[in-house]
Amino acid sequence: MKILFLGPPGVGKGTQAVRVAEALEIPHISTGEMFREHMDSATGLGKQISRIVARGDLVPDSLTVAMLLERLGHSDTANGYILDGFPRNLPQAHALDEAIGEAALDAVVVLQAEFDMLKERLLNRGRADDTEESVSNRLVVYERETAPLVRFYEDRGVTAGVNGVGSVEEITANILAALARFRP
Ligand code: AMP
Repeated sequence: MKILFLGPPGVGKGTQAVRVAEALEIPHISTGEMFREHMDSATGLGKQISRIVARGDLVPDSLTVAMLLERLGHSDTANGYILDGFPRNLPQAHALDEAIGEAALDAVVVLQAEFDMLKERLLNRGRADDTEESVSNRLVVYERETAPLVRFYEDRGVTAGVNGVGSVEEITANILAALARFRP
């Protein structure tokens, strides 16, 4: 199954995407994690993007799409994958369509939570880019760039809205139940 996780920063996308990927035995592909690995190892790409990520801005599409498409070419993606944090805007969504085909995405999980809760969660998480300024910016960037993707995929009839508030186990169970409706 090819699945995409959408939702605002702090909603628990990463945590849930890892758990669901394990349950379905498919790889979890997070562009944010890939970028953090590049920064930790100080690769050329890592050095190029570190200020952008620290500010909470989006890394340019050209770099992001190239990195993601290279990852999708690995053999472990043969039975599907979960994309977490990609696409982040409409141009990236179009690039994904072009690469895998519009019909290839089986489901889009949209994790939901009240906006007020997200900021608090992010500030308590302690990641390097979880400063007050970066967090506020990421929420703004989400609303402007990423939120329109919900409608984009709704129009295709592949979305499943899931409440992101509750126990980790409960939310995973709700996602798996929602995905069962889409299984090919
Ligand atoms: P995340 O781990 O998904 O919260 O991503 C952390 C940071 O990595 C974001 O704030 C962006 O700076 C960058 N990033 C991750 N995914 C993307 C993407 N698809 N497009 C552009 N920037 C991204």
